[in-house]
Amino acid sequence: MIKPVNYLSKVYGIKNGWSLEVYEREVQGYQAARKALRMTPAQVVDEAKKMNIRGRGGAGFPMGIKWSFMKPHPTKPAYLVINADEGEPGTHKDRTLMEWNPHAVVEGCIIGCYGIGAHVAYIYVRDELHLSKERLWGAIKEAKAKGYLGKNPFGTDYPVEVYVHTGAGAYICGEETSLLNSLEGRRGEPRLKPPFPAQAGAFGCPTTVNNLETIAMVPAALLMGGDAYSQLSALHHLRDGGSRLYGINGHVKNPKVVELAVGVTLRELIYDIGGGVTGDRPLLAVIPGGSSTPVLRADEVVNAPDEKAPLHPWHGQSVLDVPLGVDTMRGLGTMLGTCCATVLAEGTCPVLAMENLMQFYRHESCGQCTPCREGGAWLFRTVTKILDNKANMQELDNLHDIANNIMGNTICAFGEGTAMPALGFLQKFRKDFEAYVRGERTRATATLIPGVS
Ligand code: NAD
Ligand code: SF4
Repeated sequence: MIKPVNYLSKVYGIKNGWSLEVYEREVQGYQAARKALRMTPAQVVDEAKKMNIRGRGGAGFPMGIKWSFMKPHPTKPAYLVINADEGEPGTHKDRTLMEWNPHAVVEGCIIGCYGIGAHVAYIYVRDELHLSKERLWGAIKEAKAKGYLGKNPFGTDYPVEVYVHTGAGAYICGEETSLLNSLEGRRGEPRLKPPFPAQAGAFGCPTTVNNLETIAMVPAALLMGGDAYSQLSALHHLRDGGSRLYGINGHVKNPKVVELAVGVTLRELIYDIGGGVTGDRPLLAVIPGGSSTPVLRADEVVNAPDEKAPLHPWHGQSVLDVPLGVDTMRGLGTMLGTCCATVLAEGTCPVLAMENLMQFYRHESCGQCTPCREGGAWLFRTVTKILDNKANMQELDNLHDIANNIMGNTICAFGEGTAMPALGFLQKFRKDFEAYVRGERTRATATLIPGVS
């Protein structure tokens, strides 16, 4: 069900929409921070739990529960770290927020810091996003000048400072522990978990890492009240509350980022929001939420009879008609991820699409774990060989083995992020791969953009 909302996007497109003046005038800016600072930190965390905001970075972990993991340490300070290292292919929602609504991020940081007992928030921004950094620094400066940040925000004795930290242009620095290493000036390599950041995060201190959209959503949700905010969602009963930024890109007529209540379906996103498939072609497949999420075929039906998975509430329906939620997508064997869907029109070669992704993952692996470093490279080399008509059927099976041997055998989720989309393409488009092995298709005629060879 499409329910447009504009808590975050109301200021998008307004003249100087990113300024404090517009933020205060249009969306009651900084009223939520005032409200939070009159509550106790425990009350703020309780309210955050009621919001049922599932982390917007891709994993979907409940934000309020994450905040509740933070326990005061006798000697160590606590930190809030905001992950704005948006680098997932096809995902560009956080960037719109930083450019258009940086004050929601700063206000969210004040509330988050107060709730978890931190006095400092770091916003780690992807290096390439120069305008985003400029707008965030501008918002911090304006908020400080007004007395909303610093030693006595709003006249209280709860100091809060917010800093922008520039990333180093590596996709893996979007993984939270790699991001923390990079923030500390170390090499951006993931750490083993546990300990989770809540136990030992930035500089070895208790830390909450939240995605940028997650924290930006907090002010509006707090002003509204956690329960009321959560109930905006069609999936409130699954503790997947509120609203979120949806992205639609790839082969659609109107690629865009829109703010909607949680629970819109892929069909609505593609046809009603995205204007339909480019050139009115039939739909081949959709990657639901960034390249790490396994592809869904347009002709897939939920819980087809040969599947052994427990009965899905949308049993028998097209996967395109399942509301997009963290648990509903898991039930389809994929993930909601960043909720920025990539559309593949009929005519796209799935083998070429897989090669494209594997090239990316091979390049971005940090190289610490053998299954990821070697497996990713092997996946890329083998799919390239298939496209060049140089592989045999055994090598097609090898691809499954390599991908399955990456799963569960790596330090961070990047390994699975490589293997899962590979397995998705292999399982759902087996015939396309076989056609190359049999020499019935060649790379020369394959295309990623239908109509363009
Ligand atoms: P994860 O499931 O390991 O963790 C999710 C969050 O919950 C983390 O903050 C983690 O610290 C916390 N957590 C989980 N269990 C916990 C526990 N028992 N105690 C304390 N804290 C706990 O996932 P992840 O590795 O953080 O993220 C993977 C996701 O990131 C993938 O879905 C991928 O799609 C996404 N991703 C997004 C981008 C982007 O640009 N937005 C880039 C790369 C990957
Ligand atoms: Fe690095 Fe890959 Fe291992 Fe993650 S899974 S730590 S990216 S080698």
